[in-house]
Amino acid sequence: MWKFIFTLLLIGLGLPATQGKNFTLPPETLLPLDSLLPIRGFCIAAPRSDELTEFLKFINEELVPRRVNTLILRVDYNYQFTSHPELRDSAALSQEEVKKLVQVCKNNQIQLIPQINLLGHQSWASETGNLLSVYPEFDETPHVKVPEQYEWPNKDSLYCKSYCPLHPEVHEVVFALVDEICDVFEADAFHAGMDEVFYIGDEKCPRCSGKDKAELFAGEVTKIRDHLAQKDRRLWIWGDRLLDGKTTGLGMWEASMNNTHQAIDMIPKDVMICDWHYERPDQTPVYFAMKGLQVVTCPWRAPENATRQVADMLKFRAHSTPEMKERFQGIVQTVWSDAGNFLDEFYGRETDSEEGDNNPANCFRVMYDSIMSLTEQGGK
Ligand SMILES: [Zn+2]
Repeated sequence: MWKFIFTLLLIGLGLPATQGKNFTLPPETLLPLDSLLPIRGFCIAAPRSDELTEFLKFINEELVPRRVNTLILRVDYNYQFTSHPELRDSAALSQEEVKKLVQVCKNNQIQLIPQINLLGHQSWASETGNLLSVYPEFDETPHVKVPEQYEWPNKDSLYCKSYCPLHPEVHEVVFALVDEICDVFEADAFHAGMDEVFYIGDEKCPRCSGKDKAELFAGEVTKIRDHLAQKDRRLWIWGDRLLDGKTTGLGMWEASMNNTHQAIDMIPKDVMICDWHYERPDQTPVYFAMKGLQVVTCPWRAPENATRQVADMLKFRAHSTPEMKERFQGIVQTVWSDAGNFLDEFYGRETDSEEGDNNPANCFRVMYDSIMSLTEQGGK
């Protein structure tokens, strides 16, 4: 059976398949996993201090055997920043704790990428994030009050607050955080989030009103990219603001309905795109690749979609020109609960019977089973 599967795989990859009973694998067709799928990732909120020990165990026992080579940790303000201690969460990871994460990733050749949400996601439901709580003058829409009882939809179309990308002092603050987090994580890449930015170029903002929203978005991406490039660091972002929500039918969440999508032709080509789609295995990686951008596909909780997205990524790489092939970089499992909740689910301490098999823990297992089966079929 495995020969049959492997033959199909070789045919699928456009490689010669050996026929006959005495089948042996020609060494030149044994494709290393790194060549089939260069980036095999996992993205989750950074653990809190009391979750760290179990999270380190999870890296060693679950990520390493599955050949995960990229770990994106959403840190935000869960670090004891010294550049801006006023922005720390009340309980935040110490430098010593972060170094434990750095060491375990280093030992296992896992690229560790910290994330702080820049531009958008500066509030969540009825909570204003640390940046705008401490520096309300950076708020793009100060006239919109975060309600005590948040509900969606609402009259202000408030999903999350944004900072004003043209405020003259905002970058001095956020770039100090970016530099510090990259230094402590010893990172050569930084994830700036930048998803679901609904508030941009607000008509009441004295700096942004009347400006082109795509230019504002691209300007902010470029500014962050250029800052990181000074220290040979690479910018990663979510891809949704670069997709046209109306024409594609992808809508306002996983794509843009406020014209930021035109920024795709304005941003530097070395920005890595994390293309998340949770409802269907959309073929949007092809669009990013054709625009000259490297891309990884990001599933969440639907195992069936995730395995299709793995197969699609293999197909894209196999059926493309050399120029296009290297833009299809791989796949990153995304988890949107915090690390503690995910570990509870993963280790079976808490289950949501309504979710059935559609949950991030199961999606992670099933998706990585499909990736590991590539090695069983002859990859290495
Ligand atoms: Zn503004």
